[in-house]
Amino acid sequence: MNKTEKNGNPNKIATAPVFKCQMCGHCCHGESTVSMTETEQKAISAALGIPVAELLQKYCVVLKNRVEMKTIDGHCIFYGEDGRCQIHEVKPFPCRQWPLHPSILGDSAAWEAISRDCPGFRKDITYDDVCDWLKGALKKEGFSGGTTR
Ligand code: SF4
Ligand code: SF4
Repeated sequence: MNKTEKNGNPNKIATAPVFKCQMCGHCCHGESTVSMTETEQKAISAALGIPVAELLQKYCVVLKNRVEMKTIDGHCIFYGEDGRCQIHEVKPFPCRQWPLHPSILGDSAAWEAISRDCPGFRKDITYDDVCDWLKGALKKEGFSGGTTR
């Protein structure tokens, strides 16, 4: 099921031409996670049914200039045992955008690094194909990437 089907979001851009998430979970693993805006903190708190202060205390690392999700056992604290994101509907923008990151445009090294880490890209896709598709997608309102975990 892709995010369009799951969320019923009419603004979700079809990613099938270039990418289909394989739900391998690689992008939720590592020693750190992504940052969350205040709006995202409120949305995640509301989804979990807890105050923002509790979200920050239990689930986040509050740094000098950013708040990010904690990691536990080498993965994001919201990565579930079932291999799915436990806050999929409200996950932070970098998670929604991944792996179709604008840094790919004009930087083939970024594309190579991202496509090496993410097995969801079509095997026959070229760098030019991805750039063409991404340029078009970024012009559309509501663009986000293709993760479906
Ligand atoms: S976005 Fe890529 S790395 Fe992340 S779970 Fe999907 S296929 Fe794996
Ligand atoms: S919020 Fe969800 S998608 Fe983002 S890193 Fe954590 S588990 Fe993965």
